[in-house]
Amino acid sequence: MTVSIALFTQDLRLHDNPVLHAARTADTTVPLFVLDPAVDKAGFAAPNRMAFLADCLADLDRELRRRGSRLILRHGDPAEQAARLAAETGAAEVHVAAGVSAFAHRREARLRELLGDRLRVHDASLTVVPAGAVTPAGKDHYAVFTPYHRAWQQAPRRAVLGAPRVLRLPDDVTSEPLPTADGTSPGLAAGGESAAREHWKRWDPDAYAELHDALAADGTSRLSPYLHFGCLSANELADRATAHGGAGAEAFVRQLAWRDFHHQVLAARPEAAHRDYRSREDRWHQDEAEAEAWRQGRTGYPIVDAGMRQLRHEGWMHNRARLLTASFLVKSLYLDWRIGARHFLSLLVDGDVANNQLNWQWTAGTGTDTRPNRVLNPLRQADRYDPDGAYVRRWVPELAHLPGAAIHRPWGHAPDYPDPIVAPESLGARLRHARALD
Ligand code: FAD
Repeated sequence: MTVSIALFTQDLRLHDNPVLHAARTADTTVPLFVLDPAVDKAGFAAPNRMAFLADCLADLDRELRRRGSRLILRHGDPAEQAARLAAETGAAEVHVAAGVSAFAHRREARLRELLGDRLRVHDASLTVVPAGAVTPAGKDHYAVFTPYHRAWQQAPRRAVLGAPRVLRLPDDVTSEPLPTADGTSPGLAAGGESAAREHWKRWDPDAYAELHDALAADGTSRLSPYLHFGCLSANELADRATAHGGAGAEAFVRQLAWRDFHHQVLAARPEAAHRDYRSREDRWHQDEAEAEAWRQGRTGYPIVDAGMRQLRHEGWMHNRARLLTASFLVKSLYLDWRIGARHFLSLLVDGDVANNQLNWQWTAGTGTDTRPNRVLNPLRQADRYDPDGAYVRRWVPELAHLPGAAIHRPWGHAPDYPDPIVAPESLGARLRHARALD
């Protein structure tokens, strides 16, 4: 009777899961998840993500039970726990998805140290195209999105895998109780593969090309938390969207390519999680009161404050709002991108080292943006992407009485609302001064 272990990490699903698919070629399979205290120690176990994770694990367990198995949960170092379980069950193989962060690289090295050639790493699990599968001549990763996207579109894809119908667990394997956790955001989405698949079924990509930037329309997929935890496979989504066809689905698949792009940058440069990818010798302005006004959604720019309040309430923020709130912090206030990235990670349910840190660096001009000095003017962004003020009205209720686009310039008309912390005519001034532009 052969045994293998499927060690789940950021692939908390039964559909299109190469790790599970390979592990179940043994007579019996142990579906294992290890709650690693190092995630907490690194400050990455934000309550919103822990609550979402608890949902994901409960759903995975339910779905495994429907197939005759269950989730085995352990606490500790994943490599030690996997090795211990392999010894307990006589497992000949441990399967795991390849990750891209420094944390994932360390975990994999440790697994290899303890398991040797019993470890099987599956590199086409978390992204559509594995990190490092396409590279420019003589380099280990793409630093610019457009050529990456072209190569990405031509790269071979693996076939989408079905979910197993039946799974057999070896006898006498014990599990610790599954975790429970409460998030800090009252409007947090429910986690898990079942919720993810329902959500995907209901979402219509046809309007996406037209609506993805319209803040009030909320026309994006909101699949990012499910992709972060792997409740949905990016490969399956790309496959389904391509089959669906049309401009909306095509634009959606392009976003999945952005996700892969950042993953391949981080895989090659894991230190970019903390350090400038391309230093521009920034000497960031320091002002904790300004940083705190930004965090609290009290900058005096309604469109910025709306985004920051959506983040706090939902643990999620619209992409256009992420761009303009981030630009405001790093270009208009000229505060260090790490301050913003840290705050986003403390709340975002999709908070992801690759996507968060590298989008922050892109916005700060220290990353892969080919126009590092661009400044998004929040007033122009508001007029363009929230023309009648509906998004601001939803998130900044003290301004709701102001009609139409007047809500974007409320100064003098709303006693409970702060004055702008930086004057509208100086929105890019600190950056220009610091980087000696113009
Ligand atoms: P859709 O528009 O429906 O896109 C589909 C999927 O494509 C998303 O779920 C996401 O997985 C991927 N995607 C879309 N845009 C990007 C992008 N710019 N970069 C990488 N992948 C993308 N995304 C995260 O998943 N986690 C983060 O921590 C994160 N932090 C960000 C921080 C900043 C400052 C910025 C500007 C963007 C950040 N993003 C992050 C990217 C993007 O904002 C979100 O992925 C997107 O808003 C999620 O909403 P959605 O699922 O409706 O996206």
